[in-house]
Amino acid sequence: MKKGILERLREGPVLGDGGYILELERRGYVQAGPYTPEVAVEHPEALRQLHQEFLRAGADVLQALTFYASKEKLGTAGYADQVEAINRAAVRIANEVAGDQALVAGTLCLTWMYDPKEPASRAVVRRLFDEQIAIQAAEGVDFFIGETFTFLEEARQCLNAIKAAGYPAMITFTLRGPETAEGIPIGEAVRILAGEGADVIGANCGRDPERMLPLVEIMRRATPGYVGAQPIGFRTRDDLPNFTQLPEFPLALDSLTLSRAEMGAYATRARALGVNYIGSCCGSVAHHVRAMAEALGRRPPASAKSASLDRHPGIQKSRTLEEMAGRKPKSADAPRFATGDRNW
Ligand SMILES: [Zn+2]
Repeated sequence: MKKGILERLREGPVLGDGGYILELERRGYVQAGPYTPEVAVEHPEALRQLHQEFLRAGADVLQALTFYASKEKLGTAGYADQVEAINRAAVRIANEVAGDQALVAGTLCLTWMYDPKEPASRAVVRRLFDEQIAIQAAEGVDFFIGETFTFLEEARQCLNAIKAAGYPAMITFTLRGPETAEGIPIGEAVRILAGEGADVIGANCGRDPERMLPLVEIMRRATPGYVGAQPIGFRTRDDLPNFTQLPEFPLALDSLTLSRAEMGAYATRARALGVNYIGSCCGSVAHHVRAMAEALGRRPPASAKSASLDRHPGIQKSRTLEEMAGRKPKSADAPRFATGDRNW
């Protein structure tokens, strides 16, 4: 029997995985624009491979790739009749890879159908969540993550649907600032969700670690419960803190990719801030997750191939990972790696 998510959180930080949709788009299996997850039925081997990479990098949880797999959103890409097939396949593949090594999170996200000016839209989004939850639960998940919410009310509908189905719930917002899209301060939103039974509350996507953690700190102070962070692996800016605002979004983000050192430093900082679920989102791939695992003192299977640069004949100078990323090392005993300045 696998330990459940709540038991694992009680024992210490849980390490999440990375981003699926943008990485599978880069690999040619997801279409930029709709960003829907039909890859689960069209190229299951591609999805399986990415799950395997995150598992090998040390992730405790694999998120089923059911992002944007609600009926209305799939319909915008011509897949409205495949809601069941896509949700089922995504959860099945995540379970096949996770085995007894990792937990599988069923995944729900904003539907784009919630309209605060239209009270009837609450029931519309609730039905979409109920439909996905029933399919994913039938296939078998350990808990659910509802992510990328901007409106508290849509997040509440998702939380209530998960709780009605009897599962632990992690709810995360993609934050434009210190308020929800309705203008509710995030600390207040956290207290409301905690009061309605959310087991983990936090932020995901949109922001890089540097611009997400200050908001997660506010959330941390608002609740004694579990808090989660899943920032992106691309660098954003103080004036444009969400990557969707950047001129590089979405097809020219490559040069903004954060280094593994930066993602490792994020994991360390998140743990120090009391973040319980330390994961990542778009742009964060296997080498980032491995660096996060190692920063948390773990040695996942992929660490068997972690750097041993002193065995490279052409490089001599020793630097820490942070120095390689252009930053001063935070501690004198940070591991040092040989690195190149020999003139060839
Ligand atoms: Zn993301």
